[in-house]
Amino acid sequence: MKKISLFLFILLFTLVSCSSLKISGTNEPSDEEINAEALKAYTDVKSKSKFSTNKEWNELVQRVVKRIALASGENFQWEAVVIESPEVNAWCMPGGKIAVYTGIMPVLKTEAALAAVLGHEVAHATLRHGKQRYARAMKENIIGMVVGGAVIAGGQFLCKTETCKKLSALGGVATGFAVTFFDRKFSRGDESAADKQGQLYMAKAGYDPSEAPRLWDRMNANHSGKAPPEFMSTHPSDENRKAALNEWMPEAYQLYSQAPHKYGLGVNIN
Ligand SMILES: [Zn+2]
Repeated sequence: MKKISLFLFILLFTLVSCSSLKISGTNEPSDEEINAEALKAYTDVKSKSKFSTNKEWNELVQRVVKRIALASGENFQWEAVVIESPEVNAWCMPGGKIAVYTGIMPVLKTEAALAAVLGHEVAHATLRHGKQRYARAMKENIIGMVVGGAVIAGGQFLCKTETCKKLSALGGVATGFAVTFFDRKFSRGDESAADKQGQLYMAKAGYDPSEAPRLWDRMNANHSGKAPPEFMSTHPSDENRKAALNEWMPEAYQLYSQAPHKYGLGVNIN
């Protein structure tokens, strides 16, 4: 009897915590809804992170974010932090909440390469790639939690995925967002679209777009044997990626030629 009550409690809690987002039907969450969840997750990440005290890197990131944000024309509440971590990583949550990890800085080598990475990450946010991924993941998680709850009722906890376990344990939508954001990969199509849009953003922001394919070369050389960072994941072959970037180059150079300020490769990053 006690176990059945627990199952009902979990089921109810799941439905209540998920009902604030329109994910039970076919609707994707609205910008406002997903941005609010992203903000909670971002606040959470910040509270658990150590920020870099490297003045040069902080200024560099703020400057490049500002230019990419302007180039995107998106009216987000932009915010960026530099997190002290050996991870070669950077990301932009829906709504323009950005983090750059110090581990990526030496690999970048140039300010333009930082613009390429941020252009790519910001493009995921402006193209709303997180929405479908989030809606899909939350639906799967609801199923996972109900199954998990049923299993608890049966006396065993058999949640298959870490995501399911975390969500079953915590039940919060913000946690759901964070798990979704960090665990899930974008599709190849989304990666390709972010590559293109990102290259156009960097060019529009005044950075030489030819640095993008060179950066991916450096990244490839760097990540061998390690888990690839977000912008290296789910991609078609490196050769295809470079070919695509070169194919879009004329369009990018046209934007670059019209940019009010040209920074070329910008400063070197050491
Ligand atoms: Zn990406």
